This record gives sequence, structure tokens and C-alpha cells, in this order.
Amino acid sequence: MKIPKHVTIGGIKHTVKRKITPHTSTDVCYGKYSESKSSITITSSRNVGKEKKLRTFIHEVLHGINEDRNIGLEENQIDCMSGGLYESMKSCKLNFSE
Ligand SMILES: [Zn+2]
Repeated sequence: MKIPKHVTIGGIKHTVKRKITPHTSTDVCYGKYSESKSSITITSSRNVGKEKKLRTFIHEVLHGINEDRNIGLEENQIDCMSGGLYESMKSCKLNFSE
């Protein structure tokens, strides 16, 4: 799976950007979801592997769904869901482009 340039969340097209450091906080951060900018930013750092970037993409999409649907998931719940979803998608070689 390749990280796309756009993804639709809640019927709204979001831009997927690449940036070396998505956050300015002191926390280790590989991605960021912005509802107001309709965007997801994924790290472009060469020190972060492809799999981690894909996991981060799914994680940020789940943040978007969480906001759009007003689910109220906490960070650790999103992290658990994104890890499980990534593993399942990878195991069945899910490819939406076929
Ligand atoms: Zn998060």
C-alpha cells in the first residue's frame, strides 16, 4: 500500500502532506491530523521506515473519523485501533486500487 495524496474523511477530500516534523511539540510525532485544514501530515524523515509511515497514515485517518463522527476515542484507543487495522490490512494484502 502506498500512502495516497488525498483521502476522503466524512465526505471531505483531505490532502495528505509530507513534512520532516509534523508537530512542533516535544513529543515524538510522525503525523498530524488537521480538521480545519482538511489535511493529514506524515513525516518525510528518512529515519522513519515505510511501515511506520503507513501505520501513521492509518492512525491519522482514524483521528479524522473520530472527529467527523464525534466518537470520542482517546489517543491510546486510536493507537490500538490503528495498529490492529494496519495488521489486518497487511495480512490480507488489501489493495483498494484493483
Ligand atoms: Zn494520535
